[in-house]
Amino acid sequence: MHDDFITSDYENCIICPRKCGVDRTSGKVGFCGMGDKPVVNLAMLHHGEEPVISGSNGSGAVFFEGCSLKCVFCQNFDVSRGPTGKGREYSVEELSELYLSLQEKGAHNINLVTAGHFVPHVAASVKLAKANGLNVPVVYNCGGYESVEALKKLQGLIDVYMPDMKFCSPSLAAKTCMAKDYFDICCKALDEMYRQTGPFVLGEDGLMKRGMIVRHLMLPGQLFDTKKVLDYLCGRFGNNIYISLMNQYTPFEYKYEAMKLPEFLQRKLPQGHYAAAAEYLDLLGQDNAFVQDEDASGDELLPDFKT
Ligand code: SF4
Repeated sequence: MHDDFITSDYENCIICPRKCGVDRTSGKVGFCGMGDKPVVNLAMLHHGEEPVISGSNGSGAVFFEGCSLKCVFCQNFDVSRGPTGKGREYSVEELSELYLSLQEKGAHNINLVTAGHFVPHVAASVKLAKANGLNVPVVYNCGGYESVEALKKLQGLIDVYMPDMKFCSPSLAAKTCMAKDYFDICCKALDEMYRQTGPFVLGEDGLMKRGMIVRHLMLPGQLFDTKKVLDYLCGRFGNNIYISLMNQYTPFEYKYEAMKLPEFLQRKLPQGHYAAAAEYLDLLGQDNAFVQDEDASGDELLPDFKT
């Protein structure tokens, strides 16, 4: 029943900033590669998120297939390229039941991973789950390339936004995710997210109940751009948000496409760059930050997707 109400949002799809305009209800797909039914690849208690999200029990992560950004260096490459054939379609009711089952298993929150191309279903399913007893925070975990119009549909439903801010440079964004407008779009999206949540709130258990965590994955040779991202975030939001500075970039071999990583991404972070960025963040006066070990790269931080 709920799915019928939201079908029209997919008919001339402008859900994300790509604004493909395709009719996803007719079997066509746009840049994200997905039809008009959400496909979930994996749902699990995830212990690899930031401590205020994972806690001791884990975060109830729901990994959606497809992505409207598709960075060439994607750390969730297996599921971001489009349908894998391993996930399954979920209705609004089934999604809401999935969230409730994760809560039942002890999840500290429901962590919707890369769901931006399914916002109509996400909004309806979270609303239904909350009406049926979902009382843990709902986390919207995304790449930061979201439209303000779509985010407004999530008003009152998302408790914690966890977007990336990947880069400032338009040419870097164009080379890695074919979105030279990434920074401008991301700035507007983060403003809307912050407008909805306000300054972060931690519970007595030390876990995040409300607010925003912005992640930045450092890329090899891009320390200057990282500093610009940190300048922006600290200047705009300061200590009202958390910043998660990530050191886990891992170059990998493409298994599925006849393309290679651009040469500058075929290596790990140069020694010392991560420490320099962490020190810079400190100098900017950011107390609410997550930093990783100097060498956190590798697959062990990534969930085990079905392949
Ligand atoms: S959600 Fe998908 S089809 Fe719709 S505008 Fe974005 S990339 Fe295009």
